[in-house]
Amino acid sequence: MPVNDAVLSPIRIGIVGLGKIARDQQIPSLAADPRFQLVAAATRSGAPSLGVPVHATLGAMIAATPDLQAVTLCTPPQGRCALARQALDYGLHVMLEKPPGVSVGEVEQLIGRARARHLALFASWHSRAAPAVDLARAWLTGRTVRKVAVAWKEDVRKWHPGQQWIWQPGGLGVFDPGINSLSIVTSLMPRRIFVTRAVLYVPVNRQTPIAAELALADGAGATIDVQLDFRQSGDEQWDIAIETDSGQLELRSGGAQLRIDGLPITVPATGEYPRLFERFAGLVRARAIDVDLAPLQLVADAFLMGQRVEVEPFDE
Ligand code: NAP
Repeated sequence: MPVNDAVLSPIRIGIVGLGKIARDQQIPSLAADPRFQLVAAATRSGAPSLGVPVHATLGAMIAATPDLQAVTLCTPPQGRCALARQALDYGLHVMLEKPPGVSVGEVEQLIGRARARHLALFASWHSRAAPAVDLARAWLTGRTVRKVAVAWKEDVRKWHPGQQWIWQPGGLGVFDPGINSLSIVTSLMPRRIFVTRAVLYVPVNRQTPIAAELALADGAGATIDVQLDFRQSGDEQWDIAIETDSGQLELRSGGAQLRIDGLPITVPATGEYPRLFERFAGLVRARAIDVDLAPLQLVADAFLMGQRVEVEPFDE
């Protein structure tokens, strides 16, 4: 921890939405981080034994917690920006789960609000904090990327049971996990990448795709092929292979493992969420903004230009 953090009092933070990511990652990471003190929670569904006051809404949490300094929003993407606006208007620093919102425009609007109020705003992309991603970026420096192949496939029944919001407008469907791969690729490529072709496979009884194929380019000769699928049976596949002018790199298991020219490379055993909260603490101290909309823009463009193919109904 930087020396400055050691002498500063912890940031008093509240959490909104106690679903899977809050329980599996955010709450344990906050509990282990001396830079933060979790002081309240807002949840629609009752009170787990968190050891902090629990409120029905963000508004109730704000009203009852006058010393609150920051919030982390772990609700579904639909409605997240409205919560962020409410928090910023009250003078709170805000951390957003990914994706930061359901449209590029609503997140851009938040940036202006945070800037006007000198508050921190962090659009977190947890996969960028996966242990092998920085090593991959360092290895790619000075090399020319020729081809990227992304395979991001998981069983939606295993990873998103009961998450109806994923199938509703703004829920992103298979892009909910798929945007993680795009967040990694956009952080590795030296140039802006853009969608050249998209096919979205949408169950006839749902609003969002269950699978998607994208072709992207960087305008300098590199091509990026992206295969996303929620219909995976068996083990999930969260892999990115990158071919360059001098060697090949593979990120596997969502960025937890790295292979260069087929050989496994040792990566540090760091967690994604401890790194995200380290970053957020720095942004709060500096009252700074870190919002990169590139992954969300690619998804928006895929929805804008994608060919829609209806597929068989999906029922849980
Ligand atoms: P989840 O398990 O469905 O939890 C979302 C929580 O938000 C719900 O449990 C609920 O908590 C609250 N909520 C408020 N309004 C809601 C509404 N209209 N419908 C449903 N829930 C509502 O989802 P999650 O997996 O934690 O994902 C939340 C966000 O985190 C998503 O944007 C996702 O992409 C991101 N994320 C998820 C993972 C993962 O592995 N699951 C990983 C990284 C990021 P209360 O009942 O407490 O109000």
